[in-house]
Amino acid sequence: MARFTQEQVDDLNSRIKTTEDALQWASDNLHPKVAKASSFGAEDAVIMDIMLKINPKFRFFTLDTGRLPQETYDIIDVVRKKYNISVEILFPDANEVKEMVNQKGVNLFYDSVENRKLCCEIRKVHPMNKMLATLDGWITGLRRDQTKIRQNIRIFQLDQGHGGILKINPIIDWTWEQIQEYIKKNNLPYNSLLDKGYTSIGCEPCTRPIKPGEDLRAGRWWWEQGEHKECGLHIDP
Ligand code: SF4
Repeated sequence: MARFTQEQVDDLNSRIKTTEDALQWASDNLHPKVAKASSFGAEDAVIMDIMLKINPKFRFFTLDTGRLPQETYDIIDVVRKKYNISVEILFPDANEVKEMVNQKGVNLFYDSVENRKLCCEIRKVHPMNKMLATLDGWITGLRRDQTKIRQNIRIFQLDQGHGGILKINPIIDWTWEQIQEYIKKNNLPYNSLLDKGYTSIGCEPCTRPIKPGEDLRAGRWWWEQGEHKECGLHIDP
């Protein structure tokens, strides 16, 4: 298992500045122990396309929380067929889900932030942790302009929350307009929820389209207030 130091990460950030260079570095140095985590939103469409031009054998995985919108299942299949790739699908532990919904209800997330975080923890964070324990690095679609709390991210980060593997954010500086432009220009398949105003796509009961002027992730857990609106996958202890 490759593990990294902060000095190595700083060195990578000082030398590697572009999306393509970051992904090429991941291919040369981490493949096959690196994979892209995809929720099949707009950013994922772009990164997957660039990744597969660099290395057709790059790996992809997604979390099937059991509460995804049909449109997301549809695009998973479209992408799988278009690129002739397999997408590894991770599932939550059935017993953990059973215990949670039997104790707190199937829509527990609307009752409190604590319940919402528990649901994300069981349906997303736990399966993700298991997957990341097998990797040396993972690739995300995080961008700085998505939320205030994502403004300090860098292309390479030491993921202390997952045993010191590398977290690679190759499109941190892309704007929402650039993402949309790349999709159109390259005629990429994308999640049809995008055309309905979903600038961030997650579980069906927890995501809605945004209104003009809203933060790009405002549609996630829209009933909650404050800036804590992350599912736990990108929180670094
Ligand atoms: S986004 Fe909603 S349904 Fe999905 S795991 Fe989190 S709380 Fe549960």
